[in-house]
Parts: sequence; structure tokens; C-alpha cells
Amino acid sequence: MSANANGRSERFDVIIVGAGPAGSAAALLCARAGLKVLLIERGEYPGAKNVSGAVFYGSAIVDALIPNWWEQAPVERHVCRRDLVLMSPTTAVSLDFRSAAPGYVAPPYNAFTILRPKFDRWFAAQAEAAGAFLLTSTVVDDLLWEGSRVVGVKVRRDEGEVRGDVVIACDGVNSWLARKAGLQRELETHELALGVKEVIGLDEAVIRQRFHLNGEEGMALEYLGAVTEEVHGGAFLYTNKTSLSLGVIAQLSSLVEHKKRPYDLLETFKAHPAVAPLVRGGTLREYSAHLIPEAGWKMIPDLYTDGMMVAGDAAGFCLSTGIYIEGINYAMQSGLAAAEVAIDACRRRDFSRSVLRLYLDALRRRNVLTDFQAYRHAPSFVNGERLQNLYPELAALASEALFRVDGNRKQKLLPLYWRSLRKVGGKPSHVLRDLYQVTRAYLW
Ligand SMILES: Cc1cc2nc3c(=O)[nH]c(=O)nc-3n(C[C@H](O)[C@H](O)[C@H](O)COP(=O)(O)OP(=O)(O)OC[C@H]3O[C@@H](n4cnc5c(N)ncnc54)[C@H](O)[C@@H]3O)c2cc1C
Repeated sequence: MSANANGRSERFDVIIVGAGPAGSAAALLCARAGLKVLLIERGEYPGAKNVSGAVFYGSAIVDALIPNWWEQAPVERHVCRRDLVLMSPTTAVSLDFRSAAPGYVAPPYNAFTILRPKFDRWFAAQAEAAGAFLLTSTVVDDLLWEGSRVVGVKVRRDEGEVRGDVVIACDGVNSWLARKAGLQRELETHELALGVKEVIGLDEAVIRQRFHLNGEEGMALEYLGAVTEEVHGGAFLYTNKTSLSLGVIAQLSSLVEHKKRPYDLLETFKAHPAVAPLVRGGTLREYSAHLIPEAGWKMIPDLYTDGMMVAGDAAGFCLSTGIYIEGINYAMQSGLAAAEVAIDACRRRDFSRSVLRLYLDALRRRNVLTDFQAYRHAPSFVNGERLQNLYPELAALASEALFRVDGNRKQKLLPLYWRSLRKVGGKPSHVLRDLYQVTRAYLW
């Protein structure tokens, strides 16, 4: 079937809405199991409007489906360097990770930088090659119901009803379908971040030299602190083959509170003394913006009802903890988990909640719910006032004092940090409280 999936007579085993990583992964697995699969995408092609940084950490997931997938897929660079950078307005203090261990400089690689329009198109084509019908430029407006069971979708086309035994909603962060099914509530602004991103063209040789990379090696830098001024958020910079992807991610409620425009924050970021030399001489290729579900465990909706499951960003599966911004891999894992259950349901000819509840087990087996539960305290900690503003400032001030040699007496480390803490307005009692929060959020 091509782009004319019309008419009431058309019936599918599985209808998947959204050809992002979640939807295409689900479609690929269902099609391989021999099911009749319809993958509906509103964009002109899969990925046309999709936005990520992006570092793709799901290499092993795709490798299990398509061995040595990176040899044929449109990947940019394999990531062997990662930096976590704390910023004050003038200073950057970073934890620099570089590895020659397996997975970083030799295949099978751990992570790749990608450009979503190319990658999503390629990934959806794998689902098509496996037998899924891809219907593009088609918006799903609503669900079809029989009593309390979802039995298909309404699409914005003439005769626009398509019936299916199972619907998998992979329609992204603002999932219309999850809300229509009563599974997700209206999201609050503190649960969402707005990501604004630029792709800046830069010569390949300049990228290698500037970031100390060889060949196809790549680097991912994540920034916290004054990079978003007083707004809660962070920034990123990733190396592609002949471009850099960089952007700012800002909590929506904090943007509103401080009356800041994300584009201005992006300009401030690019002008920071630690960033400006990295982007110098580049030419703007594209600009995009997108929402991110960043509250983690607390915003996960009910994940299934009779005849329907929710996966990917639509289910809030984006792990945003300051250390990790991982959504593509969890989108794929949840799409695959939903597909496994859809396949099972089709075999049993039972699409009721009592079968679809197995989706929760599949999500645990694929480490989705387990990871989000383990890091459930991290999103609120990372968006806390002190981690956002005070500690990056402290790290900068203390490092400036530590590395300054001016003939004065050298201070030992504890008094140096103590003095710096007082200067930035911090209190020892806060530090003790935050140590507890760090332990709870990240360590144990
Ligand atoms: C600025 C930014 C940086 C990020 N960086 C990273 C990163 O480096 N690494 C990482 O892993 N994650 C990153 N993420 C998160 C990642 O982009 C998401 O978690 C991931 O895209 C979720 O995939 P998905 O398939 O669930 O949803 P999406 O990728 O949003 O795909 C949803 C699809 O559904 C389609 N759709 C929506 N509604 C309808 C409808 N009604 N009818 C038909 N089609 C519809 C859309 O067009 C889209 O193709 C970033 C996000 C942003 C915004």
C-alpha cells in the first residue's frame, strides 16, 4: 500500500501513529512478525520536522535488529569524547571524558551523532522494507472507538477512518492521542523544556582540529549553569561530519517566569568565551525548536488501554538528568516493547487491557521503566536553583582561585572552597542537604 490508505474497508493488525524512532521501531518489529502494519506520519517524510541534539545512544538496540547498521545508516560521527561543563558567565569548568576502550574508537560503537531528518527517514525505510505501509503527509486527528475499546484512527483525509486491532501512539511529546484516550493529562510547564537548536556548517578538517578528533571520531559537550542565564536548563554542542549541532534546552515555566526568549539564550551561549572559539567561522544551516518531556518518572502516563498503547516521548520516556539527555534510545526500546505485546495480542486475538498490560513487563525487560524509576529524583534536582546557578558559579570561582598564581599565600582546598561558597551566597547546610539529594538522585 502506498500513500492512499483510505476508506473504511481498509483494516490493519497494527496502526502506529508517528514515524519517529518509537514508531519506526515498533513498525519494523511488527512487520517482521508478519503483521499488516500501517505507519502514519504527518510530515512530508519521516524526520522532516523532528528535532534532537542529537547523540544517539541506542546503537546496540538497532544492532540487534540490523547487524552493523552503522555501515549503511546516515550517521555522522561515533562519539569517543564527552564533556560535562559547568559555566559561570566568564568561566567553564569541565569533566572531560575520552576513551579508546571498545565501543568508543572501534565498532560496535556505543553512540553516534546523527541528524534526525536523515536518520529518521532511513529508519522508517527499514520498517517499510520489512513490509510496513508508510503513509506520510497524513495527520491523525482522533481515535475510533467501539465501546471502551480503541479500534482505529481518524485521519485528516477524505473517507479518513482506518481500522486496526491495536493502535500504538508514538506521536511525540504533546501526544494528542494519549490525551484523547484519557491516558495522559494536560502537561504542566515545569514538566516540559523547550529546546532550540542550530546546525552550523563547518569544514571537516576544522572540526577535527578544533575538537582534537581523528577521522570519524565525534564529541558531545553538555553545559550547565550560567549558559542559560538564570533560566533553568542547559545547553549542548555535538560534532557532525561537516557541521556542529548546538542548542539550548530551557524549562518552559522558568522561561516564562524570567521572561526570556530561547533564541536570546542561544545567542548568549554561542558568545560565551568557552563556546565562541568552537563555532567561529561557521555558517548557519538550519534552526529548529521542539518541546522535551523532562520530568521523567513523574510524568509517565497510564501506558495502555483496551486496544491501544503509548510509546516514546508520548509516554514521557525522555531521560533528562543533567548527565543524560536520552530520548531516542528509550523511544526505540518502548516502541519495540509495545510491538512485542502487539504481536502477542494478535496471536491470541485478544486486544484487551488484560493482555496489553504485559507492555509494562516488556518495558521493564527493556530497562525503560527500571531506568526511569532509578533516576526518578534526578529531573527535579537538576532543575533546582542551586544546581542550576550556585554550584556552577562556585566551581568557576573556586577554580579561578585554585589556578591563579599571583604571589599570595596558597590556600588549602577546603578553606578555598569554603570562602568561594560564601562569596556565591551558599550555606554549608545547603551543601549537606544537596549531598543527600545527589546521593538519592544519582548515587544510590
Ligand atoms: C533540542 C533537543 C535535543 C535533544 N537531544 C537528544 C539527544 O541528543 N539524544 C537523545 O537520545 N534524545 C534527544 N532529544 C530527545 C529526543 O528527540 C526524543 O526523545 C525522541 O525524538 C522521541 O522520539 P519519538 O519517536 O517518541 O517522538 P518524535 O521523534 O517526536 O516523533 C513523533 C512523530 O510523530 C509524528 N506525529 C505527531 N503527531 C502526529 C499526528 N497527529 N499524526 C501523524 N503523525 C504525527 C511527528 O511528525 C513525528 O514524526 C532531544 C530533543 C530535543 C528537542
